[in-house]
Amino acid sequence: MEWEDLANNPLLINNYDLLKKIGILEYIEKIKVDNRNQEDLIFEAYNIFLKESVDELVAYIIKCLSDKFIPSDLVFILNEGISINKLKTYAYHNMNSCIISLDIDSLEPYEKFFRKYTGTTSFTLFEYEISNQNLIKPLEVFNPEIIVPIKGLSGLYGMILFGPKILAEEYNKQEIDYIDKLMKFTSVGIQNNIHYEHSVKDSKTGLYNHNFFVSRTNEELARCRRNKQSFSLIVMDIDNFKSFNDRYGHLAGDEVILCLADRLKHTLREGDILSRFGGEEFTVLLPETERKEAYTTAERLRTEVEKMEVFYNDITLKITISLGVSTYDWVENLTEKTMIERADEALYKSKKRGRNQTTAFQSGLLHKAKKANKKS
Ligand code: GH3
Ligand code: MG
Ligand code: MG
Repeated sequence: MEWEDLANNPLLINNYDLLKKIGILEYIEKIKVDNRNQEDLIFEAYNIFLKESVDELVAYIIKCLSDKFIPSDLVFILNEGISINKLKTYAYHNMNSCIISLDIDSLEPYEKFFRKYTGTTSFTLFEYEISNQNLIKPLEVFNPEIIVPIKGLSGLYGMILFGPKILAEEYNKQEIDYIDKLMKFTSVGIQNNIHYEHSVKDSKTGLYNHNFFVSRTNEELARCRRNKQSFSLIVMDIDNFKSFNDRYGHLAGDEVILCLADRLKHTLREGDILSRFGGEEFTVLLPETERKEAYTTAERLRTEVEKMEVFYNDITLKITISLGVSTYDWVENLTEKTMIERADEALYKSKKRGRNQTTAFQSGLLHKAKKANKKS
């Protein structure tokens, strides 16, 4: 039975004053509001789980919160990944994004507190229990009133600090309850994102890993086969890296790999998929890219790396890379394996010809004849 049917019942109409007097109608109204809030929360939780990055997720949380109230300061302190002990912050003043500097570098010292207090807590209690000023002071600058842990299977992933509400009144019970529930869903959403990132990215460089690259290449192949389009692959490898390591040490080599990853990322376009294929080998998937354009891109990468200088322990380090390019042509109906083999073959030619150069795979005469037949 619907509330509207009940509301039209003559018995209710006749006894309306009595029911109102004893507060039943008000109570029903409250239950209706609670019910609506729960429905909103389920909808928000569903949206949280759909977010594909932590950035997107945080932006959504900000939207949810600002529909209810506005904290003067809001700071998310999150672990960047599972294995990387690096913190990332998102800070908002009056719901406007701002840049802050954070004076802590690990969440570990706070874990014990959140094992004891598992949900939303007042900052006063947090301050009292932690007591170590070196751990409190860096957070105190954000004027927090409430602190919420982001917890998951691997422990503490983050903390969220809520400053006082703009309108000065304290957070009420319903608001605390809402924050607590929303943050539990946020914890799962952030955890999902971190685990997903971990499964598709190389933990050292933050670039995509080998498996992700292969699966994206397969997707691109299927798309290009269907739409009769082209795409290209670039495979690259650092020149004489073994002797580089022997001369400067493995740590210097590691630093160079990090700088190289960064330089490559910033030289490519947004839709290009850059991955660390293994050790000192990198690959790029260039969607909707013909051979000539792919060659130009590879050459741009090569010259950028040639110009790159890495400062390490007072010395300037330089490297070069060799590259190989292969292009998918729907007429040839290639597989992902052949595409990589062809790029590798081209790379091998670049090495053989003296390194620090690009070679684009060229189909043999037999292939060309087949292609000409199919196209005609
Ligand atoms: P080539 O020009 O023919 O590629 O010579 P190369 O010495 O670079 O080739 P090779 O593949 O024989 O050696 C690759 C070297 O790269 C060996 C390995 O120690 C080094 N390497 C691979 N991954 C890493 C890494 O993560 N850090 C460091 N420092 N070195 C790495
Ligand atoms: Mg190699
Ligand atoms: Mg090499």
